[in-house]
Amino acid sequence: MEYNKKHKIIIAVDGFSSCGKSTFAKAIAAKLGYIFIDTGAMYRAVTLYALEHGAIRSGVVDEDAVVALLKDIDIDFRFNPERGASDIYVNGDLVEGKIRTIEVSNCVSPVSSIREVREKLVAMQQQMGRKRGVVMDGRDIGTVVFPDAELKLFMTADPHIRALRRYDELKAKGDNVSLEEIEQNVRSRDEADMTRAISPLRQAEDAIVLDNSFMTIPEQMEWFMARYREVTE
Ligand code: C5P
Repeated sequence: MEYNKKHKIIIAVDGFSSCGKSTFAKAIAAKLGYIFIDTGAMYRAVTLYALEHGAIRSGVVDEDAVVALLKDIDIDFRFNPERGASDIYVNGDLVEGKIRTIEVSNCVSPVSSIREVREKLVAMQQQMGRKRGVVMDGRDIGTVVFPDAELKLFMTADPHIRALRRYDELKAKGDNVSLEEIEQNVRSRDEADMTRAISPLRQAEDAIVLDNSFMTIPEQMEWFMARYREVTE
């Protein structure tokens, strides 16, 4: 069933690491015929580029070097019908499969706390959502990128459950990681994202909380459609 196609809105999905924001946001976008934008993928793509171009060495981020690289980084999303979602490209190279490694995850929070990185990516995100009809997931969508979003969700789940989900995902891809390492990464990214000076992760005052620790995707969708109808009908 299609819902109120004429009145397109912006749906901001913010929240903690690895609580299924992208899976959920992608499902909502497919249901509504909206564009899905994974802003975490954009911060990850910049981090990958910085790793590959010597701006991060032994896990230490050289902020000036990252800023100097920014002008060379061109990010775009291209729809992949097989995945039913968009893949991320950097300077024309498909990087979707390379941005979710533990190495990138371990460096993405310091990279995303650099003012110039945020300015560049936020401007791109605002441009992508200018026609509305988007579901955008991230940390600062409802607070900074689109403070006027009509529907703001703030997702959370128990940290151990989140680590287990990410562990299963990486294991399925053949990555050799331990659950302890992932749980440590999830907790330290939460801490870094909440305490950074610029655009910290926080719940917008008008956001609705979704704790999906014990919810299936169909249950989350049902919950969402009720909220969606409240704001669009
Ligand atoms: O969503 P995901 O876990 O892939 O995001 C990776 C990282 O990118 C986050 O831990 C956070 O540091 C950063 N991020 C951000 N602002 C966003 C989206 C992601 O700072 N809007």
